Amino acid sequence: MDTTPAFPTLRVVSHPLVQHKLSLLRNRTTPTKIFKELVDEIATLIAYEATSELALEEALVETPLEQMTGKRVSGKKLTLVPILRAGLGMVEGVARLVPAARVGHIGLYRDHDTLEPVDYYFKIPGDAAERDFFLLDPMLATGGSATAAVTSLKHAGATRIRFLCLVAAPEGIRRLAETHPDVIVYCAALDRELNEHGYILPGLGDAGDRLFGTR
Ligand code: URA
Repeated sequence: MDTTPAFPTLRVVSHPLVQHKLSLLRNRTTPTKIFKELVDEIATLIAYEATSELALEEALVETPLEQMTGKRVSGKKLTLVPILRAGLGMVEGVARLVPAARVGHIGLYRDHDTLEPVDYYFKIPGDAAERDFFLLDPMLATGGSATAAVTSLKHAGATRIRFLCLVAAPEGIRRLAETHPDVIVYCAALDRELNEHGYILPGLGDAGDRLFGTR
């Protein structure tokens, strides 16, 4: 995992398989079926890194030969929260590693007058303060939705939140870190910039449209 002094909250998963799969994902000719499979696979690999700091505790194990003290992830409950709709494409890939995780959902739209993101759907488990949250969205672009989603999670009591994405723009990382410097961002690539429409360059286009074939 790579870190950059300019973006202290950022972790880039530089594993060769992630970088290989990301190039396939970026390719404009990659069909929807393969795109979906790649998002799922990269999400699993990013989750592997994002779970690397989960606390362990000792656990007694009976092997077929004797008793030993092994390790298990300590009591923390994990919740995956996709930001609708593109975040849905990452849920199964992350859940493959943490099948007991609960899944919440956040839907956001941009208010025409204020241009601020507003929740239209918010559902997470009730015991938020006791949980670790993985917020999922393939693209961290302007950071508006990510910042609003983290704010909503914190209002609901969440204190430990990680943000998992595939591609991040410098603008989005900065904006999220300004409001929520405690939220570590895991991604497969830090791209160059946003264009005038808020798309990441070089990016991979509209992740939701490419995932669900609505282009
Ligand atoms: N959302 C996307 O799907 N793609 C971008 O490049 C930016 C935001």
